[in-house]
Amino acid sequence: MPEGEPETPGGHGPPPRNLRTREAAPDVPELYHGEETGRVYRDGRFHTMDPSRPEVSALGIWHGRIVYAGDDPGAAEEKVRSLARAFAGARKGAVCFGGAATGEGSADCGTGPVAPTSSSPSCASSPPSSPALSASSSSTSASSPSSVSSQSSVSSPSPVSRSPAPHPEAEAYAFRADAARGAGIRVETVSLEGRPAVPGLIDSHSHLITEGVRLSQLDVFGKSREDAARLAGEKAAALEPGAWLHGRGWDQNLWPGRAWPHRKDLDRACPRNPTVIDRVDKHSVWVNTRALDRAGILADTPDPPGGEIVRDPDGTPSGVLVGRAMRLVYDVMPPWDGLDPMEAYLAAEREMLSFGLTAAVDCGTRRRDFLMLTDAYRAGVPKIRFKAFMQADPWEEEILGGGPRRGLYGGRFSLDGVKLFSDGSLGSRSAWLADDYADRPGHRGGHNYGDGDLEAVMARIRDRGLQAAIHVIGDAAAEQAVRVMGRVLGKGAPTRRWRLEHLQMVPGTLAREIAALGLIPSIQSVGLMTDLHMAGDRLGPGRLKDAYAWRRLADLGLRLINGSDAPIESPDPFRGIYAACARRDLDWRPAEGFGIGDALTLHEAFLSYTVWPAWACFCDGELGTLSEGMRADFAVLDRDPFQIPVRELHAVKPVMTVIGGSPAWMGAGF
Ligand SMILES: [Zn+2]
Repeated sequence: MPEGEPETPGGHGPPPRNLRTREAAPDVPELYHGEETGRVYRDGRFHTMDPSRPEVSALGIWHGRIVYAGDDPGAAEEKVRSLARAFAGARKGAVCFGGAATGEGSADCGTGPVAPTSSSPSCASSPPSSPALSASSSSTSASSPSSVSSQSSVSSPSPVSRSPAPHPEAEAYAFRADAARGAGIRVETVSLEGRPAVPGLIDSHSHLITEGVRLSQLDVFGKSREDAARLAGEKAAALEPGAWLHGRGWDQNLWPGRAWPHRKDLDRACPRNPTVIDRVDKHSVWVNTRALDRAGILADTPDPPGGEIVRDPDGTPSGVLVGRAMRLVYDVMPPWDGLDPMEAYLAAEREMLSFGLTAAVDCGTRRRDFLMLTDAYRAGVPKIRFKAFMQADPWEEEILGGGPRRGLYGGRFSLDGVKLFSDGSLGSRSAWLADDYADRPGHRGGHNYGDGDLEAVMARIRDRGLQAAIHVIGDAAAEQAVRVMGRVLGKGAPTRRWRLEHLQMVPGTLAREIAALGLIPSIQSVGLMTDLHMAGDRLGPGRLKDAYAWRRLADLGLRLINGSDAPIESPDPFRGIYAACARRDLDWRPAEGFGIGDALTLHEAFLSYTVWPAWACFCDGELGTLSEGMRADFAVLDRDPFQIPVRELHAVKPVMTVIGGSPAWMGAGF
């Protein structure tokens, strides 16, 4: 794996830091500049992901890391103060933060370098280098952000220290005390007023810019066909004639007769504007005649490979494009609906932070967006930790050729892997099934790769040391992906942390094969609330028992990672946690639950948003728990999810979201 930042045109940032090897030591640039602040959050009940320590009462933040989590509300503050004193008085050697979470033996562990910790080599040793974000509330704004002007005063890397008896998540954290002479130290306390906090939540599958675009789009989610057309007409009336109208959210499964919509509905409502409305799953679109004309789609236009132009009996396109046929209109539309993609990204970030998310995996990043975001993160603009899986097609060798790059820009930016699309969706009947759709005999959906093609792409991903994440919804798609991954990775498969996105069907022995290869099921439990109204029709009762089989996967010891697939679903992780546990929609339907035997426990649901995705991103030892030495990413909640009925879980709201020890989002009234 090569060193350094991605090449970006016109971008000449600071020299790369070596953050990814076991030998690399943490450099701590914030430490060497001016006044230092150790922030102590106390009087909240912090949920760790360690079942033996379900609650602790306080934690301190030191340079973006958690330095102490103890049972005594006053202990954290005293811990930070004592460390600060030791730190200020030392002339050489290392002060060590670490040890068991009880705080024993962690004040000063000597002066010599010790063996590296056992945590992940990839980003475990990257420093919290971004300046503290200024808080919007008076309760925290007293802390001046540490200015990080340069690293030039760091003469040499600091030794890595090892805590004597850490629990598995803990990581020692050390720095050169001699370089800190004269540093002023201040400790600030922020009371959570008894509110609980949980580790920062991680969305393992999202599309951030598209989510930001979605926030400004016409939304017909849950609407009738007539209301959807009427709302489109209202929005179109405000547009210039000829301007594109792009909306989303329809679902014919909610309509009488469950038939596809028709272009004529939109022709009447939007006579002057080419109109495109994505289905709720974004695997088909509803368009009007103007949009078909702009795309040049006529009666004699053939269906493209992997796509379908739905037609009237006389062969005329009826106004629905499925799968790859959507590209025919997308390709002639302005990108991002004409919005500024950076503004869209920041809008999505604001929304995600307000939901308690502190990291997000972007599944299918495009080149231009990757370069834009590289520059933005280098400049310290976005806050959420961003993890890119580049789209596979077209292959961007310039970016991918150097392999993964993790832990950049204060651990806020990484290039992890490549996202592939194998098939479509059940809702659009474009997922690749081994047998016919129950509600469309003779049809088995579509797929994008033969085994040979897929193997070639996966071998390229493997050879560059990247992670693969492949969209597999149908059983045939999942079986192919597992078969080819097994062939490409061989015995080394479990170390690669490759991912199966969506993984909705695990027939026969597939779950065991996935476990044997150490592949990662990437689920979107929030989507179950949509799918439970449709999946039975598509699959029939026989196959349904092998769908959304989370319990079966978890019982095999697999680490499920959870996400939203935003903009397909809301990125609110508490909806996902609710759906994972309740297996019902927001109206508590069906009453008996949908395959209730495959529900996750609340603890597992939290793991799927914290510990497990941190591991999946090679950030175990960095993210996912409120443990000593971890990055201080957490969300303070308005109620304790472990103390309320399951049916209320979706209503949990964060009041503050903290990344790297600094408030990244504050709710009203905190
Ligand atoms: Zn997706």
